[in-house]
Amino acid sequence: MKELNIVVQNPTGLHARPAKIFVNTAKQFKSDIRVHHGTKKANAKSLISMLTLGVETGTSIRIVVDGVDEETALTALETAVADGLGEAEQINQTDPKPTNGQESSTASTIPEQDGLVRGIAAAPGIAIGPIFQLRRAEVRIEETFGGASAEETRLQTAIEQARGQLAALHQQMHARSGASEAAIFEVHLEILDDPDLLDAVLGKIGQQQPAAQAWQSIIEARAKLMAGLDDPLLAARAADIHDVGYRVLRLLVGADDQGLRLPEHPVIVVAHDLSPSDTASLPKDRVLGFCTAVGGPTAHSAIIARALSLPAVVSAGSGVLDLANNTPAILDGRSGTLTINPDAQVVAQARQAQATWRQQQELAARTAADPAITPDGHRIEVVANVGGLADAQAAMLAGAEGVGLLRTEFLFLDRATAPSEEEQFTVYRDIAQAMQGQAVIVRTLDIGGDKPLPYIEVPPEANPFLGERGIRLCLNRPHLLREQVRAILRAAQHGRLRIMFPMIADIGELRAARTIVEEVRAELNGPAVEIGIMIEIPSAALMADVLATEVDFFSVGTNDLTQYTLAMDRQHPSLAGKADGLHPAVLRLIARTVDAAHAAGKWVGVCGELGADPQAVPILMGLGVDELSVSVPAIPTVKAQIRTQTLATARELAQKALACATAQEVRNLEG
Ligand code: PEP
Ligand code: MG
Repeated sequence: MKELNIVVQNPTGLHARPAKIFVNTAKQFKSDIRVHHGTKKANAKSLISMLTLGVETGTSIRIVVDGVDEETALTALETAVADGLGEAEQINQTDPKPTNGQESSTASTIPEQDGLVRGIAAAPGIAIGPIFQLRRAEVRIEETFGGASAEETRLQTAIEQARGQLAALHQQMHARSGASEAAIFEVHLEILDDPDLLDAVLGKIGQQQPAAQAWQSIIEARAKLMAGLDDPLLAARAADIHDVGYRVLRLLVGADDQGLRLPEHPVIVVAHDLSPSDTASLPKDRVLGFCTAVGGPTAHSAIIARALSLPAVVSAGSGVLDLANNTPAILDGRSGTLTINPDAQVVAQARQAQATWRQQQELAARTAADPAITPDGHRIEVVANVGGLADAQAAMLAGAEGVGLLRTEFLFLDRATAPSEEEQFTVYRDIAQAMQGQAVIVRTLDIGGDKPLPYIEVPPEANPFLGERGIRLCLNRPHLLREQVRAILRAAQHGRLRIMFPMIADIGELRAARTIVEEVRAELNGPAVEIGIMIEIPSAALMADVLATEVDFFSVGTNDLTQYTLAMDRQHPSLAGKADGLHPAVLRLIARTVDAAHAAGKWVGVCGELGADPQAVPILMGLGVDELSVSVPAIPTVKAQIRTQTLATARELAQKALACATAQEVRNLEG
């Protein structure tokens, strides 16, 4: 057994992010690892357990390691803590504490005043309509115990289903708004996989408690512990535990939905708080906006509201929970107010303000539909990254000139069996039609060891990102690719579809995948479609001249290209922030790709998140990228930015960027 005392210097102590890094470090070792803090003790491999220690900045923890790799484990944890657990920069700053308490559940509340409730502006927009108090449906937990093994199986099945649902939500959010919004659901998956939580529930089942009852009592206890912590940032995580707990509980009792009952007419939703998954599931046709009693503008529900363009006010105080259903109200997500029972004049003013707001939005949307042409007359196509039909429809409204990346994974997640050819065909056809003749790049299934599907068996891998991912997985299971290609080629009769293969590492894979397309096309007597590949592995960028001769186009996946070039896991809690796509190494690979493609008369898009980064847009233009594929909400702003800069200045900037030594130097360049 080995142990060590160390002081935690992180500005807000061991809150969720550093704790996650600590837990992930601990999980790499076989030894049993415990952390002591005052009188409390935690399993270092359990996020919830670690969070409930409530470690504040400047206080000491004792790490006790026992097992075969105790020496290395202790050193790794010591180094991780000493390195700041992903927050080295904040530690070196002088004013470590957040001062605005934005995530606090007790943020400023001015109670009703002439029918005006003030909260915090969380997502812009104006909603006028009746109040609806949204409460989650009560879950009735049965008392009968079906035997330990049956109860355990029920629990495992429910957890498995919840995992699928969360992975799907993650995928949707990722496709719609990018990685940072989607990360919310990664925390939920982490909670779901918490070993301590599971052990505790299994322990209760062992004592003859039905699974649902056991689960509920452990979730309640953990959430209560978390909520009781002094640190408001940590206390806010109780909501996430509740959210995951409720999801599993409904699955355990066989409920077929997540318990949100809304009226048929449009309403302004009022709730104590909204969980991230509730917010993501609010139907936009029936919800005009929402107001919560607690929460902050940086809380997950607020981030999602902005991503969904849903007006929102948070932290309006518990008084709003007493408002009767159908009370007329005006919600202003820009000023953070809720006006109750407004008189006719106020309603008229609000309607006027709403109309003006809409006009502004419409104006943005109108210019968004215009082509993005630089002042010196160079056009860049701006297209959308989408994860389903709804996104494609939204993309059209946002001015997308096509779909540069359809992440087909969304169809394959959250289910027990693969979608049939017919089902895939219907979805691809609908998306093709929604895009009204504009091209849609359908990326073939890009799933891998890190996103397991229950119906695709992949042996456990030590390095899933370097394992069977993307095209590799599909080439090893050709029936999967064949079926998908059949669906795409059939749908291509109804619109302009292109096929794109992900994770191509060398030309052999491209040829094998192309052969499958050719065979299927011959079988179906289907249409010829353009075929491209993602350039997201350095070997593909380096061999772009060879690959360019056998494709119609390239699309640079900067998310993966960055992680593989810099050898930094894009999901790694402390490295992901450093994995900057503006690193000159990545830019040189993009430059090489573009030059090779153009020399062969082919075009190049960028579909990673870098394409919407305002600092990257002129550099990518200057490198000669022909198309930017970005998340739907980013389309109007990316187009607007392109219109402000000449290609000549963008080229100069790109050349300077290529000559920089670091990503930071690139970011410091004057645009
Ligand atoms: C990328 O890697 O940049 C990309 C767009 O694909 P994904 O994020 O789906 O891996
Ligand atoms: Mg990728």
